[in-house]
Amino acid sequence: MSELTDNNALIMMVDDEPIMMEIVQAHLEEAGYSRFISVEDSKKAFDVLTHQRPDILFLDLVMPEVSGFDVLERIRAHREFAYLPVIVLTSSSDSFSKLRALELGATDFLSKPVDASELKLRLRNTLTLKAYVDQLSSFDALTKLANRKSLREKMDWALKYDQINDNRTALLSIGLDRFGQVNESFGIQFGDALLFQVAQRIKGVVDSRNKLLHVDLHEAEIYPARLAGDEFGVLVPSVRERNHAASIARQIISEISKPFDINGNELFVNSRIGITISPDDGLLGDDLINTASTAMRQSKTDSVELIRFYSQTNSQDLKEKIELETALHKALENNELILLYQPKVDIMTGRVSAAEALVRWLHPEKGMISPVVFIPLAEESGLILDIGDWVLNEACRQAREWELSGLGNIKVSVNVSGQQFKEVNYKEHVKTALKTTGLTPSLLMLELTESLAMQDVEASVTLLSSLKELGIGLSIDDFGTGYSSLSYLKRFPLDELKVDRSFIIGIPDNEDEVQIVLAIIAMAKALRLSVVIEGVETTEQLTLLRTTQSDLIQGFYFSRPLTAKDFKAFVEGGSSINHQG
Ligand code: C2E
Ligand code: MG
Ligand code: MG
Repeated sequence: MSELTDNNALIMMVDDEPIMMEIVQAHLEEAGYSRFISVEDSKKAFDVLTHQRPDILFLDLVMPEVSGFDVLERIRAHREFAYLPVIVLTSSSDSFSKLRALELGATDFLSKPVDASELKLRLRNTLTLKAYVDQLSSFDALTKLANRKSLREKMDWALKYDQINDNRTALLSIGLDRFGQVNESFGIQFGDALLFQVAQRIKGVVDSRNKLLHVDLHEAEIYPARLAGDEFGVLVPSVRERNHAASIARQIISEISKPFDINGNELFVNSRIGITISPDDGLLGDDLINTASTAMRQSKTDSVELIRFYSQTNSQDLKEKIELETALHKALENNELILLYQPKVDIMTGRVSAAEALVRWLHPEKGMISPVVFIPLAEESGLILDIGDWVLNEACRQAREWELSGLGNIKVSVNVSGQQFKEVNYKEHVKTALKTTGLTPSLLMLELTESLAMQDVEASVTLLSSLKELGIGLSIDDFGTGYSSLSYLKRFPLDELKVDRSFIIGIPDNEDEVQIVLAIIAMAKALRLSVVIEGVETTEQLTLLRTTQSDLIQGFYFSRPLTAKDFKAFVEGGSSINHQG
């Protein structure tokens, strides 16, 4: 019911004199309006209002027992109806009542006896204003769909209604595959145009379904919305069987899979849909949205199925995951993150020349949580940008402290996540961190994974070159696990290459792996990169590596990641013989 200036508005009237309501209705029917609710007993007015949720209310002020003022006061006290247009009916001479009604929040008033033309105009103007306000506060400017807030409100009503009628309510979360890449390759305007067209297709499916249903109840209407970036939601109330929700999902996927024409470019997009069903899944409100999106994202990462029901996923795991994600939001504010530093040791001299900053989450109840667990969560929820920024600044601050304390020139590496790297102004973040901490730029190194740099080679070359202008070092992490081709690697302005731990585990016994490691080292050296071997745990591994051209060793053999204090002590101890576990 967004287009309220049309004649579809649901008009409610409360008056103790039925004849008055009949007159109003007759006039308005003449003007094309057709949906009316009349309430004679003002005691029932509020209940009817909450169940029917009209678009506008005509309210008589003078009524026995519960007056129009009482009704008005109660309506305005209710968050849901704080902005419902209310036109009060008074006798034209009663200016005191008019004033009081306005004070209580009446939108407008009409004098009895009502004049037909005045009535129609006041109604039209009030509805136009309401439509405008609704548009502003409840709709997404880009796609013209409802926003998350209005979906939430709609959902609350649908859930209540379905509960009373023993129906189920379904929520679909729709995500696009590789939207980030589209945005990156073709620009944000192109991405916006795509989102708009996707929204149109979703709306098309929803409209056609609503038509089939002949819905005349707000609560039973299928309702599309934009939840975030490239994520859309569709509320499907009054679902009798799960298959009903799945069939809508299939239709949406099929519509979106048809080619798009964006400024004359043909584009194909795949979509994924996660579905949550209440009360089966035992969830309400925001949780319903969250779980639907989690199911959708799981389909993106690990499923060939384009549609995924929440209940198909392990709900205990998912519940824990959602709890963890919620707690992660507060982790930064509550200073629950810390950085550990793992020494990088010079293979020839045994001197510590660098450190890798590795983040840990000290959860108040669960204890230390590994980045392997929470970084992916942070990436899903977008929190990684704040976390990454914190890591960057904290590592620079610490490195500067070491620099000033004369610990020697310890280079500190920071891991960069894909989303940070893709931020338009990532370079600015790095520049700011260097500036605020005063760290000598050459003492900072950024580690990016090979798959990240390879996603969009041209963009990476540009970004990396511009980062180099800051005077920092660049390292390629987990090398060998992605699909780097030598010719691309050559184009990146890198300083260091880290051979992934998985190649080290098998040496020196596994001859094939020894050959692979030797080949990687030779290649890196040909590109004049410094070579770091990660995950060295045994003397045998070290002995073999000493015969190669590798430069630095990082592994439990020398040290696990240490607190800043322990790291300093480790360096000052000058020991490469520390085999602490
Ligand atoms: P990574 O960047 O490849 O970091 C090296 C990981 O290998 C660290 O695990 C380190 O503790 C571990 N490691 C080092 N030597 C050995 C060894 O001899 N044996 C074994 N078994 N493991 C060794 P950690 O700290 O759990 O970090 C795991 C991954 O989490 C990192 O892999 C990195 O991808 C990510 N990560 C850690 N901190 C951050 C951060 O601040 N930001 C981002 N975006 N990612 C981070
Ligand atoms: Mg790393
Ligand atoms: Mg690594």
